[in-house]
Amino acid sequence: MKILDEVARFVARLAPEPVCDPCIAQKLSLDDVALASHELAGSHGFQRSKGVCRLRDQSGMVIRRH
Ligand SMILES: [Zn+2]
Repeated sequence: MKILDEVARFVARLAPEPVCDPCIAQKLSLDDVALASHELAGSHGFQRSKGVCRLRDQSGMVIRRH
């Protein structure tokens, strides 16, 4: 599976809760998901913004699906 698809699936599963790139990378055992996260943003209801990550209660850039 492509990284983009893996990230999309993971974020969709948590929807509508936001999650940050480092947590996505850790949960999916991927090195870097920033590229995929940026690519997803703006498509299929995915949105990147400042917010609080659902998985570690830390604010920063997160992505969520509405
Ligand atoms: Zn996080």
